[in-house]
Amino acid sequence: MASKTTECKACKKEVSKTAKTCPHCGEKRPGTKPGDTAKGCLVFLVIGIIFAIGLTFCSDEDPDKDRSIMAGIQCQHVVKEYLKSPATADFPFGPPVQRLNKSDYRLDSYVDAQNGFGATTRTTFRCDIQYKGGDPANLASWSVLAMEID
Ligand SMILES: [Zn+2]
Repeated sequence: MASKTTECKACKKEVSKTAKTCPHCGEKRPGTKPGDTAKGCLVFLVIGIIFAIGLTFCSDEDPDKDRSIMAGIQCQHVVKEYLKSPATADFPFGPPVQRLNKSDYRLDSYVDAQNGFGATTRTTFRCDIQYKGGDPANLASWSVLAMEID
């Protein structure tokens, strides 16, 4: 005969397997093993990742998609090439990228980086960049239209 009671996972006292809360310590679902919950979460996580990947691939096909964030990242890559010490480059978080038209973006921003003498200086720049197609995470998918650096 199967037991209708089990150990509470928190206080180890006897509880009903179907109890919603432990009568001894108040633990929620005392009859479920912690591993069961973890497995359930993992399944959800995997489904979530598959959805995220699918969405990313699908949306990359859309030429009208707003790629402002990636445009800003690519502009920052390009600006780094002008710096004496690219490794010290410190860009502001979430720079305001303007969408000029379907494929063109503009980033007015600045970067703090060390100059040739090891002193940190601020460089302001304007970068106009065009999305040509392909993987937006790849700089080769972009074309720099204009770069003004102070
Ligand atoms: Zn308990």
